Amino acid sequence: MSLRAPAARLLRSQASASASRAMSTAALARVATASSAAAGPSSSTSARRVAAVGSAGPSAPRAFSSSAAATNEYESPFGINSLNKLSEEEEMLREAVKRFAEDVVAPRVQEMDEAEKMDPEIIKGLFEQGLMAIETSPEHGGAGGSFTAAIVAIEELAKVDPSVSVLCDVHNTLVCTIMRKYASRTLQDKYLPQLSESVLGSFCLSEPSSGSDAFAMKTSCKKTDDGKHWIINGSKMWITNSGEAGFFLVFAQSDPSKGYKGINCFAVEKDWGVEIAKKEKKLGIRASSTCTVNFDEIKVPAENLVGEEGKGYKIAIEILNEGRVGIGAQMLGLAEGAVDKAIRYAADRKQFGKRIVDFQGQQFDYAQVLMEIEAARALVYNASRLKEEGRPFAKEAAMCKLYASQVAQKASGSAIEWCGGVGFTRETGIEKYWRDSKIGAIYEGTSAIMKDTIWRMAAKEMDL
Ligand SMILES: Cc1cc2nc3c(=O)[nH]c(=O)nc-3n(C[C@H](O)[C@H](O)[C@H](O)COP(=O)(O)OP(=O)(O)OC[C@H]3O[C@@H](n4cnc5c(N)ncnc54)[C@H](O)[C@@H]3O)c2cc1C
Repeated sequence: MSLRAPAARLLRSQASASASRAMSTAALARVATASSAAAGPSSSTSARRVAAVGSAGPSAPRAFSSSAAATNEYESPFGINSLNKLSEEEEMLREAVKRFAEDVVAPRVQEMDEAEKMDPEIIKGLFEQGLMAIETSPEHGGAGGSFTAAIVAIEELAKVDPSVSVLCDVHNTLVCTIMRKYASRTLQDKYLPQLSESVLGSFCLSEPSSGSDAFAMKTSCKKTDDGKHWIINGSKMWITNSGEAGFFLVFAQSDPSKGYKGINCFAVEKDWGVEIAKKEKKLGIRASSTCTVNFDEIKVPAENLVGEEGKGYKIAIEILNEGRVGIGAQMLGLAEGAVDKAIRYAADRKQFGKRIVDFQGQQFDYAQVLMEIEAARALVYNASRLKEEGRPFAKEAAMCKLYASQVAQKASGSAIEWCGGVGFTRETGIEKYWRDSKIGAIYEGTSAIMKDTIWRMAAKEMDL
């Protein structure tokens, strides 16, 4: 399969620096053209106002959060760089995703939030841009990029819409990664090209009675007498992307007496009888579908077991460590997006004959929150690079998710206040960031579970 996505091509470029710079200009131009074509005529008055308040178009000044990019040319003579240093490919991907988010996603954000539905054109656009297989090898239609490239894409999308960001995050960091790391070669050859091209994936672990205690699941799997199939029965709850997904990674228990060692992971196609049931009506990330998914006597070929029998718990634990860095990036981007929009509004708005942004009382608030965002970025990028280096990162992943979700809540709450009454209305989209921020403390492990992980690992390090 040949993937012709511009963003993917940016990542795959192994050309010389000058050749690659030339390519980046051309590729970015293609992204821009594709983006504006896909943007369509949907911009309502309020959406236009949102754009006026916050969007940093080509001629707008750089968002404060991109300041690292300005120094990206720097090469340390000691071979050690700051955490803000991105590779040339990662930096080009960031620019391409930023364009896509501003041109294609931004005009649709408010409408999707009100309708509580993801626009299919956005999912199509994410696939076309190569953003749904960032780490997948080119052999399977992916971009062959780094984990940090995926993290940067998730962050950049969340600046504009955390719902779109989590769709991309779950598909990349959970679904594609499980397939890349644990699935057999046969399963990889069959499913990874589909997951790169057009089929959206879901990760099905939680159930009505098992959330934080995920391995207390009741969904069962039983091998048929001839050993050729497994039969799955049960219900999964809160499943992100399930409304649009065609592919499900499902965790199920084969023998409750074995405890977590009886858990298996399966690759399941929607057409095999998966039922998408109740769609949750949520406080935030409303455009992201969250549904109950029912498995009633679903017959799965034995070869669709992902990883070894009885090792499903290990897959879930390991993958959620990576996933938590993704949620950290989503929360980081959310905080950046909210603050950027609010400060730009305050730079336009005058009271007492002065711009709001010129009051020192406000500036001190901005400074505090900007510092906390920078700290969250350091934690997220650090966990990401540790993971890439193959070093332990579970504690750092929990820290980055916990802290970034706290910063996102605080920053988006402050952003509302910085805009006064306008911040409280739905038209500007600033209150949406605050609603969206709450989920960061819940999914892929609640804040209490993050603290539990951090403490357990710290206590081990301290030999307590
Ligand atoms: C929008 C959304 C999307 C989601 N997407 C997915 C998905 O795609 N796939 C999936 O599998 N799941 C998904 N989830 C489920 C999510 O991971 C769980 O909601 C989460 O793990 C918490 O489980 P719970 O809701 O059952 O809360 P509970 O586990 O019932 O927790 C309730 C409260 O008790 C606290 N608590 C629990 N145990 C402890 C403890 N040991 N110590 C201290 N406090 C504790 C929690 O921190 C929390 O405050 C999603 C959830 C939401 C809301």
